[in-house]
Amino acid sequence: MTDINIDRFLAILRDEVASYQVPVVDLIAVQTRDPFKVLVATILSARTKDETTAKASGRLFQVAPNPASLARLSEDELGKLIYPVGFYKNKARYLAALTTALDAFEGKVPSRLDDLLTLPGVGRKTANLVVAMAFGKPAICVDTHVHRIMNIWGYVQTKTPEQTEMTLRRKLPEKYWITVNSILVAFGQGTCKPVGPQCDVCVLRAECPKLGVTPRRLAGAAKKGVPKTLRLISWNVNGIRALEKKGFVDIVQGLGPDIFAIQETKAHPDQLSQPLKEIDGYGAYFAHAEKKGYSGLAVYSRLKPLQVISGMGSKEFDSEGRLLTLEFDSFYLVNAYFPNAQHGLTRLDYKIAFNQALHGFIDGLAAQKSVLLCGDLNVAHREIDLANPKSNEKNPGFSAEERAWMDKFLESGYLDTFRIFNQEPGHYSWWSYRFNARSRNIGWRIDYFVVDAKSKGRVKSAAILDDIMGSDHCPVQIDFSP
Ligand code: SF4
Repeated sequence: MTDINIDRFLAILRDEVASYQVPVVDLIAVQTRDPFKVLVATILSARTKDETTAKASGRLFQVAPNPASLARLSEDELGKLIYPVGFYKNKARYLAALTTALDAFEGKVPSRLDDLLTLPGVGRKTANLVVAMAFGKPAICVDTHVHRIMNIWGYVQTKTPEQTEMTLRRKLPEKYWITVNSILVAFGQGTCKPVGPQCDVCVLRAECPKLGVTPRRLAGAAKKGVPKTLRLISWNVNGIRALEKKGFVDIVQGLGPDIFAIQETKAHPDQLSQPLKEIDGYGAYFAHAEKKGYSGLAVYSRLKPLQVISGMGSKEFDSEGRLLTLEFDSFYLVNAYFPNAQHGLTRLDYKIAFNQALHGFIDGLAAQKSVLLCGDLNVAHREIDLANPKSNEKNPGFSAEERAWMDKFLESGYLDTFRIFNQEPGHYSWWSYRFNARSRNIGWRIDYFVVDAKSKGRVKSAAILDDIMGSDHCPVQIDFSP
């Protein structure tokens, strides 16, 4: 692969982002030139929208503009002032401990990376940003946008932001170290977005290698009638109302599939906001559990279904809101949220009974036309489908019984579409929230698109969209010829 011309790319982008919104920490750095405020705003900004960080920083700095005034606030008061920034409780705890930690540096924010790393809540990204923005010293802050875009360009080939930082330290000319983060954060928020980057209008579109990128689809490009290839996405959202606050509607519109099926909505339709009920360009169909806040499914579809079927006609299983089927002209889409066998496999019998009933239901549909089953099957099929197979052999999701059911199901005439195209390990769709599992890619592939074997030739591609954040699962996708 030919290396991109980094001087040219960054020169073009420096001009391009001049008219973009300035990232909030840069703004605070320029406005205040105060290392304490830059540090605090950087801590607040992690996993938080700039607008929210700006408001929370403003409220906090009104009562705590320096370490001495910060020390007078309790953790509770801090939490209330900075709410609703992401992980506000943890951040309140870090801020409550900050003044004491600064005592080791005579009450001042230190300018050395190693010293900054000793402060509560300060990782490499924060420390580098403070060194660069507050002290103007060469340091490379690698925000998620820097890591992502540098990989899209093929300038680095790395798995983690830390690896990107180390590679850039060797490769990127020092004159760009301080500014590269601001440029790429603004560009990543404005044009090269994580979901549906706007390649069609990007100033780099002619030269960018676009590695691993799924550009946005333009609504205007949609033709009347059924397109030649449908894009379908399935995602266990782990609570649609929580995900709405993290930009769910923007994600749907950014990815722009023809059909977007979601599981674990954890909501009755009457609990949903209007924007969730009516996403522009899509019809919305829901199934919910009798128990509030539990299970539940939705399908957003650009195509109008012939009929919508909730459940599978079983008293035993339909009360849990685990199945929603849409019939189209040439196929059925079955959106499913399989039960979890639970710790100690206490719900294994229920799960296997559900699986068998669903298998029968799908066989009935497949006798009529193609069937696409998508959703969270709550099982990793083979050893390559999870990072730690040996230690999980007796655990829910990888027990012998669940895997044996999956073997039987596939052998009876169905295909795991991802494995039609990819036989490599290391591709997962779910990661525990604990132990930094996602950043270390200690995951499981438990979300699938399964198709009846006769329809194999109609599946054009399958992918896992592991850069889409917001849930402990990521979306999975196929392109299918209707
Ligand atoms: S062409 Fe697309 S992928 Fe490349 S930098 Fe521009 S928006 Fe990003």
